[in-house]
Amino acid sequence: MTFSVEAVRADFPILSRNVASGKRIIYLDSTATAQKPLSVIQAMDRYYRFSNANIHRGVHTLAEEATAAYEGARQKVASFIGAFSSREVIFTRNTTESINLVAQAWGRSNLQPGDLILLTEMEHHSNLVPWQMLAAEKDLRLEFIPVSDDGELDLAEYERLLEQSPRLVAFTHMSNVLGTINPAKEMIARAHSAGALTLVDGAQSVPHFPVNVKDLNTDFLAFSAHKMLGPTGIGVLWGREKLLAAMPPFLGGGDMIKKVHLRSFTPNDLPHKFEAGTPAVAEAVGFGEAVAYLETLGMDNVAAHETDLTRYALQRFAELPGVRVLGPAAEKKGGVISFVMDGIHPHDVAQLLDRDGIAVRAGHHCAMPLHERYQLPATSRASFYVYNTREEIDLLILSLARVRELFS
Ligand code: PLP
Repeated sequence: MTFSVEAVRADFPILSRNVASGKRIIYLDSTATAQKPLSVIQAMDRYYRFSNANIHRGVHTLAEEATAAYEGARQKVASFIGAFSSREVIFTRNTTESINLVAQAWGRSNLQPGDLILLTEMEHHSNLVPWQMLAAEKDLRLEFIPVSDDGELDLAEYERLLEQSPRLVAFTHMSNVLGTINPAKEMIARAHSAGALTLVDGAQSVPHFPVNVKDLNTDFLAFSAHKMLGPTGIGVLWGREKLLAAMPPFLGGGDMIKKVHLRSFTPNDLPHKFEAGTPAVAEAVGFGEAVAYLETLGMDNVAAHETDLTRYALQRFAELPGVRVLGPAAEKKGGVISFVMDGIHPHDVAQLLDRDGIAVRAGHHCAMPLHERYQLPATSRASFYVYNTREEIDLLILSLARVRELFS
């Protein structure tokens, strides 16, 4: 299919909304959460109007329809990431919960005091704090692959750290601040030859370029629906079936059991073993639709569109005096431009852009240690997705030039 950004934009009702005294919204905050196409909104609406029921145990028509819709969504997601089987796809609340699941279920039962977990300096708090919590509980060691001044992982240092035989290497596929796309396949192969398992934080990769678990050969992959055109409240932990099958459950309750006695229980089979309680059924339906939408666009087209926008944005940003963009060159970067303007606080930048209807984010973007690494308290961040255009980038640059004028 040929990719037409005009056609894509027409699918997103929110993009025709005016904000800031009549200005059309320019949404440059998809790294935080993406907007939703009408097909996703309608699928969830349809589900609640016609099929809503609790899943798995019911025999009535609605329960069967709801179960089929939920399990159908799981299959769509499994096929989207090239899973071997939908049993490997665990629905969680989000990337954060998926990583906590691995830390608690795998980490607690497999790690011993003194064991090493290798992370990177560019991690989102979601892939730091769960390991810090586990390290404190089990007396584990944490080490970090350093980030260079231009936002790339120091792979020579990675090699040296692997000599310490980590049990797990957990790293982000794409940084939500620098935009750096890490060489995940190569890093996973190196980790495996050092005897470590791998967890890839795919929160920013799965939405933006083709990610296939067979090709990556990782052991775990975590991502969130809301960053890939789907609803909030649902995410995925993909894991190798053998690993998942050997892990104890994470949360206890309904649905994750086969049998319960007063003093004991037998866990359910995969994937239900890790899905305690009533899941986010309507959200799964919306998620399945989001995946279908992305598949119709074609993930190669999605990636090519964002590469074009990123290259263009970097060129245009270079024209602005006194602006520093973090992260590597366009070839190694996804559609995330975090920047600082000399003498202007990132929050002021974001607030002034909002007056022009431009939505960017300011702060530490849940990556405080990375900001400490660059000795920056905060950055402003513009990020792109399928519905953004070069014209929007031009308007951003124009608005940033006005911000500079105001402060000079
Ligand atoms: N990891 C990365 C790289 C992210 O960008 C984010 C969200 O911004 C997360 C993890 C956490 O995602 P969620 O809040 O959906 O759990």
